[in-house]
Amino acid sequence: MSRVALAVALAGATLGCTDYRELVRPGPEAESILVRDVCLFPATGPECFEHVDVLVRGAKIESIRPTGAEPPPGAFVVSGRGRTLLPGLVDVHVHLLASSAPPWRWALPDPEHNLQAYLYAGVTTVCDLGGPIGDLADLREEVESGEIPGPRIFYAGPMLTAPGGHPTGVVEETVPWPVSSLVLSRIAREIETPEEGARAVDEVADGGAGVVKVALDDLPPGAPKLDLDLLRAIVERARARGLPVAAHVRKAPDAVAAARAGVGLLAHGVLGGPLGEDEARILGSLRIRVAPTLASVEGYVALFEGEWKPNALDREIEDPGILADLTTGTDLATREVGPGFTAFLYEMSDHRATWASSVGRLHEAGAVLLAGTDSPLLGAIPGASLHREIRALGECGIPPAEVLLGATSRAASFLDRQGRFGTIEPGRIADLLLVEGNPLVDLSATARIVLVVKEGRIVERFVPEGRLEAAK
Ligand SMILES: [Zn+2]
Repeated sequence: MSRVALAVALAGATLGCTDYRELVRPGPEAESILVRDVCLFPATGPECFEHVDVLVRGAKIESIRPTGAEPPPGAFVVSGRGRTLLPGLVDVHVHLLASSAPPWRWALPDPEHNLQAYLYAGVTTVCDLGGPIGDLADLREEVESGEIPGPRIFYAGPMLTAPGGHPTGVVEETVPWPVSSLVLSRIAREIETPEEGARAVDEVADGGAGVVKVALDDLPPGAPKLDLDLLRAIVERARARGLPVAAHVRKAPDAVAAARAGVGLLAHGVLGGPLGEDEARILGSLRIRVAPTLASVEGYVALFEGEWKPNALDREIEDPGILADLTTGTDLATREVGPGFTAFLYEMSDHRATWASSVGRLHEAGAVLLAGTDSPLLGAIPGASLHREIRALGECGIPPAEVLLGATSRAASFLDRQGRFGTIEPGRIADLLLVEGNPLVDLSATARIVLVVKEGRIVERFVPEGRLEAAK
């Protein structure tokens, strides 16, 4: 064991790891599942269909019919009255090997907890946009083999960036040395020449990545940004390998540059500055996908101002100690998070008033909004934060059906060209979320979860002891 690994292990041991793992288990095997008389949002368009029976057999959706037929023998039957069935949610921006604890808590990340949290919250597919590729490949294998419960995993591996570019500054300011160097060597690759860029794409593609992640942002303010020629070389190689590219951007000029270079998804988008009409028009005409991560950035700003508050789903999912640390008098302004990170928070906070109009303008111009959370990171609780994001997108004036499409089929089609999941249609993989009420009327209904099904298997959800009390 290296000295760094030993230090990390000792820190974890001395600080104590709460056992908060048991959030979900694979439910009993049923030959088929019938959701009866439900309002169905199949995510094939903006409509929902009332009084429908949806039959799942094995891992797939078998049929969708007007309600009334007898359930097949041995079927697990669930009432859909007053409820809506939608495809399992897709979070296009997560970091499975991170933690929602604040940096001053020194909690060791718990990827198994994170995976359980997503499933608990009805998120049946995630895309990790920046993390250690070997660990991610292992996690995916463990989930696919049924060893641990979790959503379907796509990943990018390390993000490609300029020497000293994002995430260098943020990690160095929030994680103590030498752990920061270890973290950076696992989650980022510095690119100096087009050949290095192409090689890095080959490396992640060979490591099982489903997407390539790049960073194009002067974060913290003044940090070097990836050269556009290098970005184009990366996009070209990714295309040759059949992989889409996601770019961390924060400001409109970088968003436009990335979209013009052929990037397919903007992570964060344009929350770090204003968005002009012309810029919106260009982004819209390129039909760029944008996952604004409003909820996590809102969360940062709320923490910064000492106003972060957990909601019921956060409390059901996350360790009470982490929530207490995020809530009780731990505003970032009084913490040593480094001048660069503080400057970033001021910058984001300054533009808060423009977020809703920028996101609304992107939508009107023709950009495709997807749901992503950047969770789990500082105050972004895995799983729960996607429901915050869904509401936040609605508050930007995006129609509920559009928000839900961005959290299901449109996100799935970015990740999976074979169209195996993301809609409720016969023959598709049965990833399902049954909720109380109708999210097309009130988006907060997505968090009122009745049933989660992943690949035709019911997910047994339960709240660890003591959490239900706290969640009231
Ligand atoms: Zn991220």
